[in-house]
Amino acid sequence: MSHSLLPHNTFGLDVRCKSFVEYADTETLIRQVLPRLSATPWLHIGSGSNLLFLGDYDGTVLHSGIRGIEMLRREGENVWVKAGAGVVWDDFVEWAVNHACFGAENLSLIPGEVGASAVQNIGAYGTEVADLIEEVETVEVATGTVKVFSAEDCDYSYRHSIFKQPENRGKFIVTHVTYRLSTVFRPDLNYKATRRAVEERLPKDQPLTAADLRRIIIDVRREKLPEPGIVGSAGSFFMNPVVSEEKYAEIKQSHPDAPGYAVENGVKVPAGWLIETCGWKGRTVGHAGVWEKQALVLVNRGGATGKEIQHLSQLICEDVKAHFGIVIKPEVNFVEGGKII
Ligand SMILES: Cc1cc2nc3c(=O)[nH]c(=O)nc-3n(C[C@H](O)[C@H](O)[C@H](O)COP(=O)(O)OP(=O)(O)OC[C@H]3O[C@@H](n4cnc5c(N)ncnc54)[C@H](O)[C@@H]3O)c2cc1C
Repeated sequence: MSHSLLPHNTFGLDVRCKSFVEYADTETLIRQVLPRLSATPWLHIGSGSNLLFLGDYDGTVLHSGIRGIEMLRREGENVWVKAGAGVVWDDFVEWAVNHACFGAENLSLIPGEVGASAVQNIGAYGTEVADLIEEVETVEVATGTVKVFSAEDCDYSYRHSIFKQPENRGKFIVTHVTYRLSTVFRPDLNYKATRRAVEERLPKDQPLTAADLRRIIIDVRREKLPEPGIVGSAGSFFMNPVVSEEKYAEIKQSHPDAPGYAVENGVKVPAGWLIETCGWKGRTVGHAGVWEKQALVLVNRGGATGKEIQHLSQLICEDVKAHFGIVIKPEVNFVEGGKII
């Protein structure tokens, strides 16, 4: 294995791949990269901030070097902005705020790149990127042709898109994403934690600007989450489960403080609360651990392997199942044997 993936995964896992290919534009991807892929397993990554490599990757790892952000047009309050898949997501948010294109402030400082934002449907503090996406430009791997998906085609839901469906894995490579932002700043303060943070950190008579909101979100995230590059993690390791109203009522009986948020098909219970209630916050197993400030985050305490982190996640899942009868599922993509499992 010739190429280290250490700089390409935020868990800080010391794994390698056979070859690493970065391309600069769509033309190069279609003409030079795709024809060489058929003989080897391959995986397209962004910043590796939602990947858990369970070992070395016996194939080619692809990375987009398509950068550049372009304001396409304005119409009324709408402004359409197109970005290359290889643009760092937070650079995009910063660019948008600086160019008075609003709507993405709550998604400040989420690690990763523009391409993955559209695959993962990233979200934070009550905003999901699906609400901002106009279209996703891809290359279909089998045919080498450009295919454009509308936001509706992408079938977005919580941390999910059409690109994550097992039958579509490896079928499309995202090259560009076009976002529909607003020329009018309407802060999304629906989330209680965001409202509280703004009240606490902004002088009462000072009007809130997009730059203020971005700075506050960044400060809050830095206080709560491990800093990539310093503590290895992939952010939230598990998705928040949705349970039936009856199940939630049952949990409330034994845990009156149990948080829950009504959603279309039941009640969403924070996985972090379930894990913390089972006593996992701050614990360490081998070289893997549960983050002291947020039980939803698993961390590399130094020198952990992907298997150790997987083992810890399994222990937590079993415990939550035994304690609450609820199955929690990883948000993180596990990579083993040449593919995402
Ligand atoms: C400290 C920390 C905090 C985090 N906080 C949040 C948060 O608040 N909200 C949130 O939603 N997520 C969060 N995450 C998770 C992560 O930032 C997102 O999932 C992000 O979108 C991953 O981007 P990436 O570029 O690193 O993608 P990767 O992890 O490299 O890849 C993720 C998936 O996208 C696919 N992919 C990547 N690029 C392309 C492409 N060009 N074409 C096709 N497929 C592609 C990969 O194959 C893989 O399936 C956090 C992670 C960390 C480490």
